[in-house]
Formats: sequence, structure tokens, C-alpha cells
Amino acid sequence: MKDYAVRASAAGEQVRIFAATTKEMCEFARKAHETSPVMTAALGRLMTAGSMMGLMMKNPTDLLTLEIMGAGPGQGLLVTAGANGFVKGFPRVADAMLPPKNGKLDVGGAFVPGLLRVIKDMGLKEPYNSTVALQTGEIAEDLTYYFATSEQVPTSVGLGVLMNKDNTVKVAGGFILQLMPFAEDKIIEKLEENIKSIPPVTTMLEEGATPEDMVNRLLEGLEDVTIHETNEIGFACDCSRERITKSLITLPKKDIKEMIDDGKPIEVRCQFCNSKYEFGTDDLKAML
Ligand code: ZN
Repeated sequence: MKDYAVRASAAGEQVRIFAATTKEMCEFARKAHETSPVMTAALGRLMTAGSMMGLMMKNPTDLLTLEIMGAGPGQGLLVTAGANGFVKGFPRVADAMLPPKNGKLDVGGAFVPGLLRVIKDMGLKEPYNSTVALQTGEIAEDLTYYFATSEQVPTSVGLGVLMNKDNTVKVAGGFILQLMPFAEDKIIEKLEENIKSIPPVTTMLEEGATPEDMVNRLLEGLEDVTIHETNEIGFACDCSRERITKSLITLPKKDIKEMIDDGKPIEVRCQFCNSKYEFGTDDLKAML
């Protein structure tokens, strides 16, 4: 099954929800960055959220950046997402290892204490920029806190990445459920009840739940549950030999001369997707 996300609403638009399945993008990132299980989970959760938050943006050229900066062994993550829900991202320390906590991957322990930064570049002079303290570092709770404090939107975020025994990604996905300011108490109570009674995202996905199933479970008992949109999402990097060449040209001339004098080809890797680009001395001479 390809990665995709749905956007739905219920109760006369008092509630809106995004739900996604993201196994392919998480597995792509795991392979590209050769992440340890805890970092596969961390990056996968942030990319899953990024994808859904990307879809929330209005204009096709809007760009979302989510960054975790932490003092723990994982140090941080950077994810960017377009308004089409396609993401790219990388971990600061791909192979960070931590002992499990309560039998689970200790994603929070990889980062806390730390910060979550959200940047939305909507083509204005100043991009929207908000930084909050990490609450647990488990990412879903941190985003819930971000939505409540920075955007003043009561939100419930569920994110999950489950690995196979060989550490490849078995299932991944999540949801972001938001209440509009005019939501009635009885709607809020019903949603709280639903959120309490549903199993973790990874359990639902492992049992074969689709994003539509997650929407229906979360919005159970509400009127006019409507799925408005289904979008294919995934990992997409826009790096190219031309882009890397452009960035190399900005280096000081003497640095490029030194590389030429070394006489060996240089290798440059894209930070986001880890693709390798090689430049020989002739290429470097052309840059000068
Ligand atoms: Zn790339």
C-alpha cells in the first residue's frame, strides 16, 4: 500500500482530522540514513506529522519546517514538508542507541531536554516561527503542546512507527485531530471518550486499519463524518547535481583550489536523503 493521507471533518466542521499511513516514507528514510530503531521511530513520527501539517497549508509553494533540538544522544531531527504532503528529513545522530524504557523505544530519552521549532514559510517577508519546549520528546505530545500554546487550537496528535524484528519498518502512520473554536461541549466530550478508548496508532495499523478506519474510530458517534480529500504522500528530496554544484561554487576560491591540488575526486552527500555526488578535479576546475 502506498503512503497516503486523508482529510476529514465531522459535526458541521466543528472537528477536523488528518490521518495517514506512512510506512514507505519511514522505511525510505531508515534505509537512506541507516538509522537505529529509536531514530527510525523518532524521524518517522516527525515526518508523519510533517506530512499532515504540510497538507494543512494553503498555497502550493508554502513550506513547513519541523525541527527538534535536544540535549539527548539523538541531538535532533529536521523535517521539511510541502503543501502536497511530501516530506524529507534527517536525524542529527542516525545511530543513537538508548536502552528501552518500559519495554518500548525511548524516543523521548533521545532528545529531552530540548526544543521543538515550527517554521511556516508562506512567501511573506518573515516566515511564521514558533519554538516550544519539548514536553516528553515523544513528538506527538510535543506537537499537541505546540498546537495548544502557539496556534491556540485544541489538538490531539497520535503518531506511531513499529519495526519488524530485522528493524525494517512494519507499519507507520498517525492522526492530527483538531477542534474548531465553536465546538460544542458534547462534541468535545465524545471525542475525549473516543481518544481514551482507541488503541495506540501502531496497534490499529498492525491490525490492518487504514487512515479512513482511524478517522471513523476517532469520530465515532459524531454526525456527518465526511472525507474531503485523499492525498498520496511520501519522501521526496529535490537535491540534484546542479544544486550541489551551486552550493560548492559559494565556497571560498582557495578551498576549491586546495581540493583541486589534492588531485582526488570529492564526495558530497545530500543531508536530507544521503544521496552521494562525486566531483572530479575537472569539475572543480570548471567551478573556479
Ligand atoms: Zn537529497
